[in-house]
Amino acid sequence: MKTSYKLPNKEGYYGKFGGAYIPEMLHPNVEELQSRYLEIMQEPSFKKEFEEMLRDYVGRPSPLYYAKRLSAHYQTDIYLKREDLNHTGAHKINNTIGQILLAERLGKKRIIAETGAGQHGVATATVCALKGLECIVYMGEKDIERQAPNVARMHMLGAKVVAATSGSKTLKDATNEAIRDWINHPTDTHYIIGSVVGPHPYPDMVARFQSVISEETRKQLLAKTGSELPTKVIACVGGGSNAAGMFYHFLDEASVDIIAVEAAGMGLNSGLSAATTALGKPGVLHGSRSIVMQTDDGQVVEPHSISAGLDYPGIGPLHAHLFASGRGIFLSATDEEAVRAAFFVARNEGIIIALESAHAFAALDQLTLSKQDRVVICLSGRGDKDMATYMKQMTMTNQL
Ligand SMILES: *Cc1c(COP(=O)(O)O)cnc(C)c1O
Repeated sequence: MKTSYKLPNKEGYYGKFGGAYIPEMLHPNVEELQSRYLEIMQEPSFKKEFEEMLRDYVGRPSPLYYAKRLSAHYQTDIYLKREDLNHTGAHKINNTIGQILLAERLGKKRIIAETGAGQHGVATATVCALKGLECIVYMGEKDIERQAPNVARMHMLGAKVVAATSGSKTLKDATNEAIRDWINHPTDTHYIIGSVVGPHPYPDMVARFQSVISEETRKQLLAKTGSELPTKVIACVGGGSNAAGMFYHFLDEASVDIIAVEAAGMGLNSGLSAATTALGKPGVLHGSRSIVMQTDDGQVVEPHSISAGLDYPGIGPLHAHLFASGRGIFLSATDEEAVRAAFFVARNEGIIIALESAHAFAALDQLTLSKQDRVVICLSGRGDKDMATYMKQMTMTNQL
């Protein structure tokens, strides 16, 4: 039997990538998750509650929208999977709903999370408020200053936001703080990781929660076109959770091109970039073996992207395997290309998209598309949070 791209092996490896590289002190927490996550996720009562929450609280299924003017411009058929219409404005809530239901069944009373721009922190604070659980979000001191509106949202939702003051005072440091907290609370705390990264079973668990995106897309495409399969699916990749969800049920369909778009920042060779597959090498980051941006002696390189959600020096092990095996096509878009794409979508479709998602749209200019193509783009989130950046752009280019 051909092996599936979707699933890691028992130790959590996708090809050469994955596994669980963790300190001894974390073994009880991680082993409990490894031994229980599949059994819990397959319980009928879990499935029922997950589906109900996605429908009645998140607002799923999210629409699959035929983008008429975009399609006319690119002379092909383009559909947008509207994760921007979810409660809290992005795909991240699919995962936090799944993990809070899991934490409940594991008997955990205390939830911790890391956040960069604050999107995952808000999605976690939201589900903790929903379930009445204590919520502590670790966030780099620098990000707390830069992302004040999301910090205020977390506070309003009742979460405690703790500043990570070491290193560059950003996402990587917040992740280290969260791991330290988890080590100190081995029995009562669940750590909700926000992407398909971290030690096994997180990459597989998060991909399964997000796979609702491609599960719905297949049905919606069938209803609209008579075929379940697109010819291309496109998603942006930070850690890779919206991409994992968008790709999941197409990974083993050889006729579907899988296209991942990373953030090139100021340009691949500028020293200010977050295009992990273009610039990184195999290495271990935050508990799994993947591709990591690093110096020759293995120090993690500070990434840069205009979009905080893509500003990460690694990618999930599933994506590292898609890249290394050639199953996935990995492209990148610069800050400038992403901003241009966001304005184009706003003015042609009336949708203000997140800066992260804009990278996926920017890739349309790099592809050869034909009338026979059916392209699905994951519109991972809405752009309200990025208005300050977009306004600055309009001022600079005299469009205000
Ligand atoms: C966080 C975020 C991303 C990047 O995270 P992934 O795990 O790569 O999906 C992309 N888009 C939006 C809107 C986000 O909030």
